[in-house]
Amino acid sequence: MIPFEYRRAEDVDSAVATVTGNDRAAFLGGGTNLVDHMKLGIARPELLVDLTGLPLDGVEELPDGTVRIGAGTRNSDVAAHPVIRRRYPALAQALLRGASGQLRTLATVGGNLLQRTRCVYFQDVTTPCNKREPGQGCSALEGYTRYHAVLGASEHCVAVHPSDMAVALTALDAVVQIRGADGDRAVAVADLHRLPGAHPERDTVLGHGELITAVDLPPTPFSARSWYRKAADRAAFAFALVSVAAALDLDDGHVTDARIAFGGLAHKPWRATLTEHALRDRPATAGEFRAAAEAELADARPLAGNAFKVPMARNLLVAVLRGLVDDRAEDPS
Ligand SMILES: Cc1cc2nc3c(=O)[nH]c(=O)nc-3n(C[C@H](O)[C@H](O)[C@H](O)COP(=O)(O)OP(=O)(O)OC[C@H]3O[C@@H](n4cnc5c(N)ncnc54)[C@H](O)[C@@H]3O)c2cc1C
Ligand code: SF4
Repeated sequence: MIPFEYRRAEDVDSAVATVTGNDRAAFLGGGTNLVDHMKLGIARPELLVDLTGLPLDGVEELPDGTVRIGAGTRNSDVAAHPVIRRRYPALAQALLRGASGQLRTLATVGGNLLQRTRCVYFQDVTTPCNKREPGQGCSALEGYTRYHAVLGASEHCVAVHPSDMAVALTALDAVVQIRGADGDRAVAVADLHRLPGAHPERDTVLGHGELITAVDLPPTPFSARSWYRKAADRAAFAFALVSVAAALDLDDGHVTDARIAFGGLAHKPWRATLTEHALRDRPATAGEFRAAAEAELADARPLAGNAFKVPMARNLLVAVLRGLVDDRAEDPS
């Protein structure tokens, strides 16, 4: 047992000041990822600042139609919220495909976004891992790679980002609101997580002590025609091999606009801008969907154990887009 101090945050600014002023302090949301990491010896904070008493929870419609989700809102509450289910069904579906009912009741939106990779070597402190200890090497490169990246990886790390919710938020153009010691800033969810490059130890663009206060969903009308699907080794309680979040705007059998992101393929949710571009103003047919998927996946570089992810991503995307055209996307319940 490694001793640590626990404090309940009294307000946002003092929570930010406390963590900013101590390199070994960390924010605590639901604790479902961080506490696991403390038990495994991956994280060794000396001070936990518990955010769950702060007034950062709730889902609110702003006057311009933006929907603001407080960073402390529990995953189960977001998934069940009528506004989210009606206006952003892909987000509710993504949340409901993650973890389990018990975990979703505890997990917060901020913690979900910042959960760390499930790479088996990252979680096993007896094996070398550049993400845990920079310079140690990457055990996955010559190891078990079924769950690893096929896009945007580096020689230093081939891990993938694990969150289902973040993939839906990326496709839905969501923006993260952040409070730091120097004030507030906003970052698109698509730009929050990093590719590994030479610094896989840094998952995101956040500095130490920066606090996520909310996530904003813009009022894109066709987000109501959105769908999240996940291919995994089990129907529940398993992380994505590949996932797809998509929203489609259609007019007379043609795609007028699209928002698409993949999960399970890269160190961050992968916004499929090449696919989106290829789909615009084209007929909404399976052939067009397949060609648009291949435009994105042409740069894929599979590892020894995960070549199956490339056709799986293509087929899942085609199935999601066809489902959206035929209005077959299931109700998020
Ligand atoms: C068995 C199991 C199965 C799972 N399956 C899935 C799955 O299929 N799909 C999926 O997406 N997830 C899955 N998860 C992960 C789960 O979704 C995350 O553990 C959870 O969302 C983390 O939220 P939390 O509030 O508990 O985060 P915490 O553990 O409290 O925090 C996680 C990180 O975020 C930081 N943090 C928390 N809140 C903030 C904030 N507001 N601002 C800045 N930093 C903050 C913490 O310091 C910490 O570094 C699974 C987890 C388990 C244990
Ligand atoms: S893939 Fe990344 S997280 Fe996994 S062992 Fe390699 S460096 Fe560590």
